[in-house]
Amino acid sequence: MSQAAAVKSSQCWERQSHVDALKSTDVDLLVIGGGASGAGVALDALSRGLTVALVDRQDFMAGTSSRSTKLIHGGVRYLEQAFKSFDYGKYQLVKEALHERKRMLKMAPHLAWPLTLITPVKNPIGLLYYRFGLGLYDILAGSERLGKSRIESKDELSRACPSLDLKPLKGGVSYMDGQFDDARFGIAMVRSAVEQGAHVLNYTKVDELILSDDRVSGARCTDELSGEVLNINARVVVNCTGPWTDKIRTMADPAAKPMMTVSSGIHISFNKNLLPDGRGILVPETDDGRVLFILPWLGKTLVGTTDDPANLSDTPTATDDDIDYIIKHVNEWLAEPLSRDDISATFSGLRPLVSNPSESSTGGLSRDHVIINEKGMVTLTGGKWTTWRNMAEDCVNEVVKSNPELKAGACNTYEIRLPGANGDKAAAEAALKGLPEDVATYLWQAYGDRAHLVLKQGSSDRLVDNQPYIKAELDWAIKFEGACKVDDVVYRRLRVGMLDEAATQSIRAQVASVLEADASETA
Ligand SMILES: Cc1cc2nc3c(=O)[nH]c(=O)nc-3n(C[C@H](O)[C@H](O)[C@H](O)COP(=O)(O)OP(=O)(O)OC[C@H]3O[C@@H](n4cnc5c(N)ncnc54)[C@H](O)[C@@H]3O)c2cc1C
Repeated sequence: MSQAAAVKSSQCWERQSHVDALKSTDVDLLVIGGGASGAGVALDALSRGLTVALVDRQDFMAGTSSRSTKLIHGGVRYLEQAFKSFDYGKYQLVKEALHERKRMLKMAPHLAWPLTLITPVKNPIGLLYYRFGLGLYDILAGSERLGKSRIESKDELSRACPSLDLKPLKGGVSYMDGQFDDARFGIAMVRSAVEQGAHVLNYTKVDELILSDDRVSGARCTDELSGEVLNINARVVVNCTGPWTDKIRTMADPAAKPMMTVSSGIHISFNKNLLPDGRGILVPETDDGRVLFILPWLGKTLVGTTDDPANLSDTPTATDDDIDYIIKHVNEWLAEPLSRDDISATFSGLRPLVSNPSESSTGGLSRDHVIINEKGMVTLTGGKWTTWRNMAEDCVNEVVKSNPELKAGACNTYEIRLPGANGDKAAAEAALKGLPEDVATYLWQAYGDRAHLVLKQGSSDRLVDNQPYIKAELDWAIKFEGACKVDDVVYRRLRVGMLDEAATQSIRAQVASVLEADASETA
C-alpha cells in the first residue's frame, strides 16, 4: 500500500483532505481511539513504515488522556503494593514505567519536565519507611534516575508548602518524578503522526466493524461534523478506545466477554498558590488509605485524585461528594484550610482498568496493559500514560506477528522528538523576546520551538487580562492542531478550561467567532 503524503511542519492540518484521502485509500492500520494509546500505536506503526488512519469520535485526547494527574511516573504507591503483595508483575510495571519516564522527558522537554515531590511524614518509623521505599524507587530507575531521594526537615517542608500543618510532622522525604501537559503532549503526538503521513480524523465515530471471512477488515464510520458515512478498509484494525474498549470488541463479536472496569478520578485546580517553590506534595495516606497529590501545574495548584467505580460517560464531571472528599482530606494536612471559594476549575476522568473478579476495589486493579487479538482485530487497553510508547511497541509487535504480509520495519520510537522539540529553537527564542515575561514563558511551555510559527498566525494581544493566552493561538489551534469546536480549543489546546473556569467563559465567545470565520472560509 502506498505511503500517504507527509505534511511539512509549517503546513496546515486540513481535515477535509484526510476525509477525502480515506474515501479512496486503504491503509495498513486503522487505529480507533485518539488518546495516548491510539496516538502511540499510530506513531509506532509509522516508525515501521506502515500506513495509518487514526479516528476518534470526540476530539483527540478528549477521553481519559487529558484528564490525568499529569505525572510521568513509575508510581510510588504501586511499588509499595508490589512489595506488600509480593507481586513481581507490579514491580516490573514500576521498573518499566521509570525507564519510559526518561524517554518522555526527552521527547518534548517543553511539555514534560522533572518535578520534585515531598512526602510529609508523621512518625519517625514512617520517615525510615519512606526513605527506604523511595531509595528503592531510585535504584529501580538505575541510570534513568532523575535525582536522589532524601530526608527533608520540617523547615524544608514549610518552604515547599507554607500552608502545611507542621505540628504533627516529623519531617519528609523528597524524590523526583516527571510532570507533563497531558493533552498538549497527546496533540503533539497526533500532529507528529500527521507530519509523517497518517490520515487522522477527530469527530469520526466507528459505528460498525466491517468483517470479511469472519475477520475484521475495516470500519464503517460517521463523520460527526458532516454526517457523511466513511468506510475505511485496513489490513488490521486496532482498538484503542480506553474505557470504551468492550463496545468495539462486541461490534466484532457480540458474545465477547466484557474485560473492562471503569473507575473515576477527579482533580481540583485551586487559585491559591500552595507551592511557591514549584515542588509538589505527595500526601502518603488519607484516612481511607489513598494517596493525594498537591501539585504545581501551569500556574495553579492541582489536587487529586479519587478512585471510585463509575459508569461510562463522554462527559464525566466532578460531583459535590468528590469535591468534598478532596477538600476534607487535603485539609487534614493543612494549617490554612482550602475552601470551595478557592476552586478555579475541576475535571474528572475515567480509568480504563482491566477487570479482575477477585479484586474488591478499583484501586487494587492492575495498571498493566493488555493486548488481545480477536477476529484479526488487536485491542490494546489498560496501562498508563507514562508507558504509552512501550504499550504501542508491544501492540504493533503483535500486529506484525499475526500479519506477516505487512512489510514492517523495526520499531523506531525510542528517540523520537515531538513537534516543538524538533524545530528552529533560535527562531522561537528570538520571536519570544520583547513579549511580557508571563506570555513568553507560557508560549514556550506550550509550543516549544514552534512558538514563532504560532506568533505568525496573528496578534500577540491577550485574550483575557492577566492571563497569558494570546489571540494568535486560536488560529493556530484550528489550522495547525486540528481543533474543530470551542471545547477543543479551551480544554485541549490552551488548557485554560482545566485551570480557570472564569477565564474560560471570557475566552469562549472569541474562540466561537474565530471558528465561525474559519468555517465560512472553507464553506
Ligand atoms: C484520574 C486519572 C489520573 C491518571 N493519572 C495518571 C498519571 O498521572 N500518569 C499516568 O501515567 N497515567 C495516569 N492515568 C492513566 C492514563 O490517563 C490512561 O491510562 C490513559 O490516558 C488512557 O489512554 P487511552 O488512549 O487508552 O484512553 P482514552 O484517552 O480514553 O482514549 C480513548 C479514545 O477512544 C475514543 N473512542 C471511543 N469509542 C470510539 C468509537 N466508537 N469510535 C471512535 N473513537 C472512539 C474516545 O473518544 C477516546 O478519545 C490517570 C487516569 C485517570 C482517570
